[in-house]
Amino acid sequence: MNTLQQARDQVLCQIRQACAQAGRDAQTVQLLAVSKTHPSEMLREMHAAGQRAFGENYLQEALEKIEALADLNIEWHFIGHVQRNKTKQLAEKFAWVHGVDRLIIAERLSSQRDVSQEPLNICLQVNIDAQDSKDGCQPADAAELVARISQLPHLRLRGLMVIPAPNNPQAFADARQLFDLVKDQHAHPEDWDTLSMGMSGDMAEAIAAGSTMVRVGTALFGVRDYSKQA
Ligand SMILES: *Cc1c(COP(=O)(O)O)cnc(C)c1O
Repeated sequence: MNTLQQARDQVLCQIRQACAQAGRDAQTVQLLAVSKTHPSEMLREMHAAGQRAFGENYLQEALEKIEALADLNIEWHFIGHVQRNKTKQLAEKFAWVHGVDRLIIAERLSSQRDVSQEPLNICLQVNIDAQDSKDGCQPADAAELVARISQLPHLRLRGLMVIPAPNNPQAFADARQLFDLVKDQHAHPEDWDTLSMGMSGDMAEAIAAGSTMVRVGTALFGVRDYSKQA
């Protein structure tokens, strides 16, 4: 068995254990493989190990991989910061965009999504622990944004995405509470099923708090070398 397969099996095992500990069904947590900085061949190998959902942060790098791996049935997630002038390619090439934090971005993604495609899945990114340097809307603005974004025609607003600072389990609890609270504002509440939180270092805590999608890079692919980034 190769090492990527082993790493994935180990992460899936950690997810199952965290679910068991939290009294949750393991099927309720999805694994998003965060592949930024890693070459297409590694993604191909991870795909062969059974992984279908991959998350990328940098648009140009992602577009190259999407092209190189067009023969595989990969579900592509964009988890980086969304720049206003990059929405067209996001709308065309991805199945999910996690970092939506303003109405204008959502409006552009909706109008640029081709009508022949499935609606674009999105998560509203919330700055849940009041970090200066981080993207995301203010928690107080989330309800209004959910109400507005959930009415846009070519999007499916699936839930919230948060990236709290390390070692702050309260942030996960706050995100879970907000997730439950703003569901009432959604025009199609049946679409509201995703809480995107937890990374390599805090998967178990995120799952205990109710995460439904953990975004895992390092534990699957090893430490990133940014000097070789595409
Ligand atoms: C890079 C990244 C991850 C993965 O982080 P690891 O610690 O390597 O698991 C998850 N989410 C986002 C938004 C990221 O940018």
